[in-house]
Amino acid sequence: MTDTLPPNGEVRGYDVIVCGSGAAGMLAAVRLHDLGLRPAVIEKSSRFGGTSAISGGGLWIPCNGLAQEGDSHDDALTYLKAVSKGSYREDKLEAYLDSGAEMVRYLAALGVQMISVPGFPDYIADAPGATSGRSLFPTEIDGKHLGEEFFRLRDSPEGYKLFGRYVLNLEQSFNLSERGKGWQWTAFKLMAKYWLDIGWRRMTATDRRLTMGRALCGGLRKAMMDRDIPLYLNCALTGLATTSGRVSGVDAQIFGKAIHFDAPAGVILATGGFEQSQKLRDDHLPVTTRRGWSLTPAEMNVGDGLTCGEDIGADTETLDANWWAPSMQIPSRTEPNLDIAASMTFDHRHPFSMCVNGLGKRFVNESCSYDEFGQAMIADHKATGANIPCWLVFDAKFRQRYPCGPVLPAFVMPDRSLPPEWWGSYIFKAGTIASLAEQMRVPGDTLAETVERMNGFAKTGVDEDFGRGRNRFDRFFGKADVGPNPCFGPIDKPPFYAVRIDLGDLGSKGGLKIDRHARVMARDGNAITGLYAVGNNSGSPFGNCYPGAGGTLGPATVFAYIAAGHIAGTGG
Ligand SMILES: Cc1cc2nc3c(=O)[nH]c(=O)nc-3n(C[C@H](O)[C@H](O)[C@H](O)COP(=O)(O)OP(=O)(O)OC[C@H]3O[C@@H](n4cnc5c(N)ncnc54)[C@H](O)[C@@H]3O)c2cc1C
Repeated sequence: MTDTLPPNGEVRGYDVIVCGSGAAGMLAAVRLHDLGLRPAVIEKSSRFGGTSAISGGGLWIPCNGLAQEGDSHDDALTYLKAVSKGSYREDKLEAYLDSGAEMVRYLAALGVQMISVPGFPDYIADAPGATSGRSLFPTEIDGKHLGEEFFRLRDSPEGYKLFGRYVLNLEQSFNLSERGKGWQWTAFKLMAKYWLDIGWRRMTATDRRLTMGRALCGGLRKAMMDRDIPLYLNCALTGLATTSGRVSGVDAQIFGKAIHFDAPAGVILATGGFEQSQKLRDDHLPVTTRRGWSLTPAEMNVGDGLTCGEDIGADTETLDANWWAPSMQIPSRTEPNLDIAASMTFDHRHPFSMCVNGLGKRFVNESCSYDEFGQAMIADHKATGANIPCWLVFDAKFRQRYPCGPVLPAFVMPDRSLPPEWWGSYIFKAGTIASLAEQMRVPGDTLAETVERMNGFAKTGVDEDFGRGRNRFDRFFGKADVGPNPCFGPIDKPPFYAVRIDLGDLGSKGGLKIDRHARVMARDGNAITGLYAVGNNSGSPFGNCYPGAGGTLGPATVFAYIAAGHIAGTGG
C-alpha cells in the first residue's frame, strides 16, 4: 500500500530520501535497500511513475548481453562520441557503458525482464560504431500483482491504446500500425482477452495488462512493495537542507503543510525535467515553444529538483535542449477549451507523405528519428523563420493505410467518423494541392513544386535533397510493399491532407551537472557531498543527441543504479 502521510514536522529514520517516483527514482530506492540502506521516496503527484510510466519503457543499453547482434564497449563509445553534439564527458560515458549490462541483470532479478528487439537499429544508423539490438523493452506484467497500487500507477493517455481502451505491447503496436501478418487476429485477441477478464472488468475499465513504461514502473513499484520501501504521494520537494557543507535532508510540502525529512546518507533528486515550466522553457530553450506541445504529463515536471539544486550552488548542463518529438494539437472531445498534444513520433515516416515548412518547402529527411526531426525544425526555423509549426502533407493512399495520431487508417476510421471539430483545426483536406495550400496558408506554387519534386524522387527511389530511406534506421520502418524506396511514395491520389506539426518533446535534456558517480557538481567544480541527481533532473550524458530508442531511460536507470551504489559505498 502507498504510505500514509508522515506526521507533521520532522521525519527521521530514513538514510536516503529519493525525490520523484519515475523509473530512475524507484530503481534508485530499490537498489539502496538491497545495499543495506533505508530509503523513502517522496512524490509530488497523487500518481507514481511520472513520464516513465506513460513511455515506451525502452532502455538503450549497449553491450546489454541480451541482443543477438554483436556489440563492443569500443564500438559503443565510438558511436556515442560521434553522435553527441556539444560536450560529453568520457568518464561519464565509460561509467554508463561499464554499468549498463549489470543494471539490466539487476532489473531482471527484480522481476522486470527486458528483451532486445532483433534488428532495431540505433537512430543515427550511419554513424561509426552504430549497430542494432541496443534498445531493450520490458516484457508484460500482470497488474493484479500491484493490488491497490495498480490504481495509483499513472495511466497512459487514451491515444496510446487501441480505441483508447486496449493496452498494446510493442509487438502488437507494430503489428497493428503496420498491418503486419495476422493483424486482424491480434486485434481480435486483444479485445477478447479484455472482455473475457470478467472479474477485473467488474472492478475497473482499465486494462490490467501492464506493458511498456507501465510494465517498467509497475515492476519497480512491486519491488518497492516487496521490500516495504515507503512511497509518500502528494509530497513535493521544496528545498534541500545542508549541514556542515553536506546535503542532509529535504524540505517538502504535503497538502500545503511543510515537512522535513532527514537524510543523513544523502538525497537523490529524480524529479524529472523542466518541460512543464513555461518560464524555464522560455529561459533556456533556443526557440519559443509551448509546454502544451510536450507529450509529458501536465504540470508535474516543472524543474523543482533543478531549482532546489541551483539554490545551493549546483552547476547545470545542456539546458538548451529537449528530447524533441514532434507533436500535434488535438481539440479535446471532453474538454472543449483544451487541446491535447498527440504524438507524431512515427507518423511522419510513412510513405505517400512529406513534411514542409510554412514556405511550402521540405527541410528534413522525414524518416529520421523524432529528436533529429525536432532539431531540423529548430535549424530551419532559425534559417527561415517559418518552421514552427511545420506540416505533414499526405494523400489518400496514406490516409487509407496508415495512422496519423488519433486518426486511424480510413479503412478503420473513415473521414466521416472523425469528430467535426478536428477538421480545419488539426486536420485539413482538399481535392487539390492548391486548395490544400490555401487552407494551410502556405504558398501554393511552392507546395505544388515540392510535391512534384518529391514525386520524381519516389519514382527513382533516390531523395536527392535529404537522403530519405538511405540508412538502416529509415528502412527499418519502411514499407516492404512500397518501392523502389520503402520509405516514400508519390503524393498523387486525391483527396490531399495536411496536419500541423508542433515542436513537441518527451522531456527536457538538460539539468544538474553530475559526475560519473551521479554526484551533483557545484559551480566551483567540486562535488556537493550528499547530493545526487538522475534521470532528466540531471544533464544528459550524451550532450544534445538521442542515440537510440531508450536513449533517455537508459542513462536514467543506469545512473540511478550507480548513484545508489556510490551512496552505499560499493563503488558506483
Ligand atoms: C510518450 C512518451 C514515450 C516515451 N518513450 C520513451 C522510451 O521508450 N524510452 C526512453 O528512453 N524514453 C522515453 N520517453 C522519455 C522518458 O519517458 C523520460 O525521459 C523519462 O521518463 C524521465 O524519467 P525521470 O525518472 O527522469 O522522470 P519522470 O519519469 O517524469 O519522473 C519524475 C517524477 O518526479 C515527480 N516530481 C516532480 N517534481 C517533484 C517534486 N518537487 N517533489 C517530488 N516529486 C516530484 C514527478 O511527478 C514524476 O513522478 C518517452 C516519453 C514520452 C512522453
